[in-house]
Amino acid sequence: MVLKVSNCPHCDSKIFFRIELSDINTEKFPAPVYIVHKNGICDQLSTFYVDSKLRISYSTKEKKEVAINSLHTIDKP
Ligand SMILES: [Zn+2]
Repeated sequence: MVLKVSNCPHCDSKIFFRIELSDINTEKFPAPVYIVHKNGICDQLSTFYVDSKLRISYSTKEKKEVAINSLHTIDKP
């Protein structure tokens, strides 16, 4: 599990989530994963793209139809 820090594309708040290779389809990179910003206010889904080392390439507000998993953000570790 890798801890990631980024910003929510919807509300621009800092978000934290944990991801591992089994959360993505490793046949093609960058690979999408859904991230749900769970803070009781935003709670919106976005799509993050990561490379083979699970580094974030980019993110989008749109829900793409190809991610194989949906992750919830976590409270600040
Ligand atoms: Zn948000």
